[in-house]
Amino acid sequence: MTLTVVEPATGRAMAEIPEATPEDVDRAVERAGSAFRAWRDVAPSDRARLLLRLADAIEAELEDLAVLEARNAGHPIASARGEIGMVAATFRYFAGGVERHLGDTIPVAGGVAMTFREPLGVVGLITPWNFPLPIASWKLAPALAAGNCAILKPAELTPLSAIELERIALEAGIPEGVLQVLAGPGPTVGQRLVEHPGVAKIAFTGSTRVGAGIQRAAAGTIKRVTLELGGKSANVVFADADLEAAAAAAPGAVFDNAGQDCCARSRILVQRSAVDRFLELLEPAVQAFTVGDPLGADVAMGPLISAAHRDRVASFVPDDAPVAFRGTAPEGDGFWFPPTVLCPVDPASPAAREEIFGPVVAVVPFDDEADAIAKANDSIYGLSGSIWTRDGGKALRVARRIESGVLSINSNSSVRVSTPFGGFKQSGIGRELGPHAMEAYSELKTVYYATGA
Ligand code: NAD
Repeated sequence: MTLTVVEPATGRAMAEIPEATPEDVDRAVERAGSAFRAWRDVAPSDRARLLLRLADAIEAELEDLAVLEARNAGHPIASARGEIGMVAATFRYFAGGVERHLGDTIPVAGGVAMTFREPLGVVGLITPWNFPLPIASWKLAPALAAGNCAILKPAELTPLSAIELERIALEAGIPEGVLQVLAGPGPTVGQRLVEHPGVAKIAFTGSTRVGAGIQRAAAGTIKRVTLELGGKSANVVFADADLEAAAAAAPGAVFDNAGQDCCARSRILVQRSAVDRFLELLEPAVQAFTVGDPLGADVAMGPLISAAHRDRVASFVPDDAPVAFRGTAPEGDGFWFPPTVLCPVDPASPAAREEIFGPVVAVVPFDDEADAIAKANDSIYGLSGSIWTRDGGKALRVARRIESGVLSINSNSSVRVSTPFGGFKQSGIGRELGPHAMEAYSELKTVYYATGA
């Protein structure tokens, strides 16, 4: 069986690759189990050095990887270059963590207790199509740094960069079996990884629906799970904000990666007295958000990932939708959709409540600070968000009250290699990146040493 990989900007096939099967999962788990016995005992300084070599090797192939990701995932080439740079930075950051993965010594009666952070063994990593290689690296780098062996199952629509990564890792000296990639369907290959008794943990990024199924299936073998799921983040704009700056940043906050971003601020909550002025400023910023060929110069947004996904996104903009204004998108082949601003949106409507995962944003007015917090929190999700105001105290008060894992004040920034990332509520369980990420790939062991009285 083979898997046909499609280029979303043209709608045409760009590669045909072998499709993995559940039996391949069984073989990969066996291979990873053997590799683990040696990998766990590699001296920390050597393991760190190998991860640094992998980071260098990724950087050496940055341009080719960026073009591959731009073609397969439809990302503008400048964004794809930044993403591959982040992948290298992620391996470098966690290489630095290998020798700082410390335990404690705890004085106790009659001796001393010490703690060790032991690797879990074989971990299964399941990733989505929207940021294929960065999301894989957020899992792989801490997993390998902590001494685990990993089996990565990329999304069916975007497996190509992960397959390249496996080759690059081998060439950089990562031992065989430590990092394996299996490209295949979620319900068969992914499911087998989740149920396999030889897999100690699943780290998953994807939809809340599939994440819930993974949590249920993982219960059978008491697997550890980290879940990075959906979002419906709020961009809260107070009337006392720098409205020019907020409006200039708003298109990037939601239309980046064509809105196929779990951190997309797909609800803009604007204080009622500022709505008209904000929309006046937002319209030219949206018109200037150029949509086109991901490999073209000065393109801010590419196509959606597939025709089926474009149809789903379009269903949130029926004929009677309150479209305030739209940008433009190319005609013809490729899965194009224009940036679309809806206003005013009923907070109870699907456009205000569901994760659209496309370039459609709902503008919802609010009255005061309490109303802003209530509306921001009126969601099953809690992943990201922004707060725009010139009042520092208010910014922090609101940030403390919004139920969300990552917030930025007067900015859209969501993800940094050195800070924790993850969600509240149905946006997930656990955190990736930052100083604590390796803990999620290790078990804490306590050893008591009786010294005698
Ligand atoms: P998806 O849930 O459809 O698929 C994600 C992965 O799970 C794919 O590799 C898929 O093959 C696999 N899968 C599907 N069924 C499975 C099963 N039964 N068992 C095991 N694996 C299975 O998600 P998607 O459409 O690829 O990605 C979009 C979603 O990902 C959005 O909801 C988005 O918010 C979310 N996302 C979250 C984050 C985050 O960090 N919180 C980041 C990016 C994307």
